[in-house]
Amino acid sequence: MDSKYKLIIDSFGKDRFKFNEPLKNHTTSGFGGPARIFFIAFSAKELIKIISMCRQLGLPYFLFGSGSKIMISDLGFDGLIIKNRIKDIQTISVKGKVTKYGIGVQEAAIEAESGLSIKKWVEYLNAQNLEALEFMNLPGTIGGNLFLSKSLQNHAKSIKVLDLRSEIIEIAAENLNPRKHIIISAVFRIKAKK
Ligand SMILES: Cc1cc2nc3c(=O)[nH]c(=O)nc-3n(C[C@H](O)[C@H](O)[C@H](O)COP(=O)(O)OP(=O)(O)OC[C@H]3O[C@@H](n4cnc5c(N)ncnc54)[C@H](O)[C@@H]3O)c2cc1C
Repeated sequence: MDSKYKLIIDSFGKDRFKFNEPLKNHTTSGFGGPARIFFIAFSAKELIKIISMCRQLGLPYFLFGSGSKIMISDLGFDGLIIKNRIKDIQTISVKGKVTKYGIGVQEAAIEAESGLSIKKWVEYLNAQNLEALEFMNLPGTIGGNLFLSKSLQNHAKSIKVLDLRSEIIEIAAENLNPRKHIIISAVFRIKAKK
């Protein structure tokens, strides 16, 4: 094992990694050869740490969400594949109106981590009585979709990303760039159901 990979493996513990993991098991297409090393990030801290370490050590890595849009060669990937499973979601503020009937919620700000599936996102919004219709039927995760989905982008108030200097910054959706940014989480403004 390359000593640089050993540094990463030792820092997380060997039991957190899989070796020669078939990527066909993680892509919607069902294609993909083995990943030399495979890691699942369960917290933002882990995701930031492992990507920052790969960059510092100059090791090839690739991050994916649910694998619905990626095509991986049968030859696999000679580096570290990171699966994003950071999926916390919370309501951080609500805007409402006080009437004689009580307080009616009009809009909420929801923070979602990038590995949250769109399915769980929609379930959460429905449970909070917030508009979810335009997000339904999208496959994948918040992180994979933010680069593509106009619906998600239009609702994004701010997006927390890891930039190329491995610093965490907050940006607007229009400044998002797949070559420059790893999405950690985003805050969305969502209207209440009528
Ligand atoms: C059947 C089908 C229907 C679709 N319909 C629609 C549609 O109606 N509207 C629409 O907008 N899109 C649609 N899409 C596209 C869909 O939104 C993308 O497939 C989605 O982005 C995939 O999310 P994922 O988590 O599976 O991404 P993955 O396939 O896991 O990754 C896709 C890319 O995003 C990158 N990525 C993933 N997470 C992050 C992150 N946190 N930070 C940085 N980069 C990241 C990966 O590196 C990779 O390059 C459709 C796709 C399919 C397959």
